[in-house]
Amino acid sequence: MLLLLCFMNSAGGGLSNSLLAASELKVRWRHPAGLVTDETIADIKTKLASQDWARRVYDAKRKQVEPWLTVASATLAEVFPKRRGNVYHNFSCPQDRCRLAFDPFDAQQFKCPICQKVFTPETDAGVYPPATRYHGTMYDGWICLFHLAASEAAQDLGVLSRLEVSDGQRCAARAIELLLLYAEVLPGMPTKFGDAPQMSVLLTYHREGDSKVLNHLATAYELVRDHMTREQQRLYRKTFLFHHLRNRHPLQPIRKG
Ligand SMILES: [Zn+2]
Repeated sequence: MLLLLCFMNSAGGGLSNSLLAASELKVRWRHPAGLVTDETIADIKTKLASQDWARRVYDAKRKQVEPWLTVASATLAEVFPKRRGNVYHNFSCPQDRCRLAFDPFDAQQFKCPICQKVFTPETDAGVYPPATRYHGTMYDGWICLFHLAASEAAQDLGVLSRLEVSDGQRCAARAIELLLLYAEVLPGMPTKFGDAPQMSVLLTYHREGDSKVLNHLATAYELVRDHMTREQQRLYRKTFLFHHLRNRHPLQPIRKG
């Protein structure tokens, strides 16, 4: 901006006049902003039209997202975690130390793919000692995996909403549904501050897990915001983007002192 103002100053008019003009300028952000922009979408279209590998990658991603598109709204709302989770390590077999079979739409019971034992969600996998920060139940671990999967699905549905000819609206609607489920649950889940900023927790176990989730959600919002009503946009910005990302959330820059 300073460079721009200097250029404007040398091109004519005083610096004070340029600053005044800049402050009076009605600046509007271009959307989608962030990691995925209109240029990204155009690039994907170009590659899909010309590259076999791109079509294979796209088809695989489309297939991966399909269950999130077809699951019933009632199922999604019911299974959506209403409380904070913990690290995904807890979602493992106490005997075989492998990941249990993960189904994002079923948290009733969990099965080990090796020994075939079935566990209730509140089973302690025994990975971490009680009273340590990562200690949790299998359900705590499932919650972590759910958020990683759901947020990625929201982002991918956002991308698909820009690319799918006949299904674009449907993809956008489901992405919005996921975003609004987060907006509904997050106000009751204030950040649990840790000793260091990177150890604060919102949804998963600390910044490492939460950052991935929140970046996906922010990208999804940018891609589908034009499909949202003004009230949905306001709700989402108020409960998620502004409240949690800007003011209270561990995505804040780490500051010492
Ligand atoms: Zn097992």
